[in-house]
Amino acid sequence: MPTQTPALKNEVLVLKQYIAGKWIDGSTTKEIVSTNPADDRQVIARLRGADKSDALRALDAAQKAFPAWRDTPAPVRGRILAKAAMIARARKEELARLMTREEGKIYPEALGEIDKGLTLMDWFAGEGMRLMGVTAPSELPRNILYTLRQPLGVVSIITPWNFPWAIPVWKISPALVAGNCVVFKPASLVPAMAVEIVRIFEEAGLPAGVLNLILGSGSAVGDVLVEDARVKAVSFTGSNEIGKRVHTIAGARGIKVTCEMGGKNPAVVMADADLNLALAGVMKGAFGSTGQRCTATSRLILDEKIADRFLKLLLAEVKKIRLGDGLEKGVGLGPAVDESQLKTDLDYIEIAKKEGAKLLCGGKRPADKNLAHGYFVEPTVFDGVTPKMRLWREEVFGPVLAVTRAKSFDEALELANDCEFGLTCAIYTQDLTQALRFSEAAEVGMVHVNSPTIGGEAQVPFGGVKGSGVGEREMSKEGLHFFTELKTVFLDYTGAARSSNIY
Ligand code: NAP
Repeated sequence: MPTQTPALKNEVLVLKQYIAGKWIDGSTTKEIVSTNPADDRQVIARLRGADKSDALRALDAAQKAFPAWRDTPAPVRGRILAKAAMIARARKEELARLMTREEGKIYPEALGEIDKGLTLMDWFAGEGMRLMGVTAPSELPRNILYTLRQPLGVVSIITPWNFPWAIPVWKISPALVAGNCVVFKPASLVPAMAVEIVRIFEEAGLPAGVLNLILGSGSAVGDVLVEDARVKAVSFTGSNEIGKRVHTIAGARGIKVTCEMGGKNPAVVMADADLNLALAGVMKGAFGSTGQRCTATSRLILDEKIADRFLKLLLAEVKKIRLGDGLEKGVGLGPAVDESQLKTDLDYIEIAKKEGAKLLCGGKRPADKNLAHGYFVEPTVFDGVTPKMRLWREEVFGPVLAVTRAKSFDEALELANDCEFGLTCAIYTQDLTQALRFSEAAEVGMVHVNSPTIGGEAQVPFGGVKGSGVGEREMSKEGLHFFTELKTVFLDYTGAARSSNIY
């Protein structure tokens, strides 16, 4: 078993690209430096970024590796994935620690993310045994009809920074087990985590060229990973702005593309709800991972009958949250991922104030001098937010919760749907009719009843509708099927039946 990498021992890691099974420097002379968002004086990693020529080399390597990988039996591909999961499981605490240092989320959440990714790897490893088509009865005598699931070829995987382990893993795993070769471009803010992912697959025995890593800015290498003729599919997760661009370019080429994008997820608390359960769910949904989840609860719709009572309970809980470095025990809220995200959080707070929303708590950087070198912002709650306000409609991606009140179930549902996004939502109620009506009518990809807006499980589809997602769902069978083409075979073993037929 290879030794731990320097990044896991808190030393500055010098990162490289991984192309055709070799770790090499990127072609740009400009150094990219990744720092700890809880204290930007701590350097995590340095690297020379990739440019278009590196991306083209990676595509070339993937193309060359494809025939042999395609012909490797799917159960054998699955076993490499299972081995990768085993290697990662043995290192999960170190990986979680690295994630906290690089992305900023608190250690328990980082550990939870590693576990989620491991479950996904387990699930997709097993899919190597289940990459099945169907057989169907033919209308003709002595004919067999069946389908084959076949890989696409070279696929590009482009991922965001906020789940730097789980999202790459839930895309790379199905792509590989289905028999594709991958060029993986992670977000520039989390290169060290991406390198660990690739190292794990390398150690598990993945042949050279099957998985390639390009560490470079999206503006330098993004387009070529979508435009190049060798790319047969693109799996993207990130913002709407970039997602729409990727979708347009891939769509114009007529290749498969899936884009999972932003969210503005509502939680509805009805008067009959278990308020303690709702409180715990809203706290976790709104402030977990510093609100930097696509599934974060960013809109709270309260039945007016319990609104004041619920907000009193909520504010008491928010006041208990301790901000700080996510590796410290007792810290409940980490920093924004970088200076730019911190600015976005603070800008939206100012916009909400100007538009007339009522600030109930937070709204600024913490006064604590020990946090001055991190990108911290206080957990923030605004009441009286109306659907016309930008805080209601636009994704902030920070610990900022917009609250409004509804007079009835119908109004709550209308408010929940009054949004361009449609990723996930939650309702807290003990009324079965309300729960089922909400589940049916909510314009989202995922509904939670009496649980927070966050989360996903390997065996069920994950993804959104409206502005939140376009293309195939991720995870589950759907996540695997995206990386395959179906072929129908008509096998006439008399050699004559079909030629005499009109079909
Ligand atoms: P982003 O800015 O859109 O970046 C996502 C990825 O796209 C990064 O790897 C980025 O590279 C790359 N990229 C940038 N320009 C590109 C281009 N022209 N062509 C191709 N790729 C390009 O998003 P982010 O800030 O990393 O992530 C936050 C967003 O992701 C939020 O909106 C969040 O809601 C969303 N998200 C959605 C889901 C979901 O499942 N729906 C899950 C997690 C996050 P660089 O880093 O080098 O710019």
